[in-house]
Parts: sequence; C-alpha cells; structure tokens
Amino acid sequence: AIDIQDLHKYFGSNEVLKGIDFHVDRGQVVCVIGPSGSGKSTLLRCVNLLETPTDGRIFVEGVEVTDPDVDIDKVRSRIGMVFQQFNLFPHMTVLKNLTVAQQKVRKRPAAEAVEVARRNLEKVGLSDKENAYPAHLSGGQQQRAAIARALSMDPELMLFDEPTSALDPELVGDVLAVMKDLANEGMTMMVVTHEMGFAREVGDKLVFMDGGVVVEEGVPSEVLANPQHERTQAFLSKVL
Ligand code: ATP
Ligand code: MG
Repeated sequence: AIDIQDLHKYFGSNEVLKGIDFHVDRGQVVCVIGPSGSGKSTLLRCVNLLETPTDGRIFVEGVEVTDPDVDIDKVRSRIGMVFQQFNLFPHMTVLKNLTVAQQKVRKRPAAEAVEVARRNLEKVGLSDKENAYPAHLSGGQQQRAAIARALSMDPELMLFDEPTSALDPELVGDVLAVMKDLANEGMTMMVVTHEMGFAREVGDKLVFMDGGVVVEEGVPSEVLANPQHERTQAFLSKVL
C-alpha cells in the first residue's frame, strides 16, 4: 500500500505539488491522469525518493519513506519503476539486464538470478530474446523487458510513468496486456497513463491532477463518464 499525506514539493520557489493526499491499497491499481506539468511524474518520483518531498509524509507498506533516517536504497529496492523511456542498459543482453541488479542488490547467486530472470521473461513473452541486445528489440519488447527487469527484484509495488507513451500505436497493446496480467496477479500499481481504456478496464481508481493538486478521483468508469469538476471535464473532452 501507498499512503501519501499532504505532500508538497517545490523546485526552487515553484510549488509543483500543493498538498497531495493519495492512497493506494495493497493490490489496487490507481491510474493518474492530468495535463502536462500538473505534477504526475513528480508525485510518482516522490514515492521512491527520486525526488525529495519538501513537506508531508509518504508511507510504503507501512514504512515511512519520508523519515529522514530511512535507508533510501532499501526503500527503492522494494519499488519497481518503469519509465516512458525504457532505460535498459544498452551494452548488456536482455538476460544480463535482468540479472545484474538481482546479483548486486539482492545478492542472489548467478544461477538463481538467471532462473528468476527467465521466469519473468516468460511472463512478458520474451523468452526467445534473452540473448538479444536492447537495440535489436522493438520499443514494445524493450518496455516489456524493462517490466520483467523490475519484477525480477520482487517489488512490493510497481510505479509506471507513461509506460506506453513512447511506443508506436501497434505496440501499445502488448505492454498493456502485461500490465493487466500483473494487476490480475494482485500487484499494487500506480500508473500515470493516457490510456483511458486501460484505466477504465484495469484501474480500481482514477485520479485527475491539475496544477499540483488532486482535482477529482473515483471509480474510473464513473469519472470518465461523468466528471464532476469543470477542469476534469475540460481535460477529458480533449483526450477522449
Ligand atoms: P507530463 O505530462 O508532461 O509528463 P507531469 O504532470 O508529469 O507532466 P511533472 O514532470 O511532474 O509534470 O512536472 C511538474 C512541474 O514541475 C513542471 O512545471 C515542471 O517544469 C517542474 N519540474 C519537474 N521536474 C523538475 C526539476 N527537476 N527541476 C525543476 N522543475 C521541475
Ligand atoms: Mg510526466
């Protein structure tokens, strides 16, 4: 579970998160939408401390990650993150991409790391690509490999920041299918996305952000069909 309480984030004098309260139950999928610059990525990045919150508290599975004494590496190792750009290591094969952090961070023996990696490659439909280099994969395959890499660390939750936005349209479905499988297995997920079909079908909750605040949240089908706030209506009329 993720529990965010009155989160504020400034970049210099620019307040980009203006008191966010946000909750994801264990096993829930919460999708976040909103215009460019509304603070979606910053919110996500605060959860695994890629950005340092200015004020407020964040709990991940009951552990306060905003505690000044927290072990940041330990927090991060429990949270999988998938970005818009796939961020695979270009000079490593797919298999190596999946095993390196398991060995270094999780201290797994090589054979075990390979076993875990293969299991996750199978899950994302890339068993035949373990010896390929990222440059020889399609964007959709690279993103699925990135998801498999994150899963190989046995995360307690997964954060996705527009995971399909950089993909050609015909490759989006495969990545969303993998994410849907993950959701069905009970993974706790926070997903910034423009894929309203995914939000409606897979999301337990949809959160609309604008100007650094949560404007509206609710059951995805209800928010999409019947947005209560004018700003949500204006945004949805542009993207739907
Ligand atoms: P997009 O849909 O374009 O990805 P977003 O909702 O993810 O937008 P953020 O990336 O969180 O928005 O940015 C929110 C605001 O914070 C923007 O005004 C942005 O310019 C600013 N910002 C983000 N990161 C930094 C940074 N490292 N330094 C300074 N300002 C930043
Ligand atoms: Mg963003």
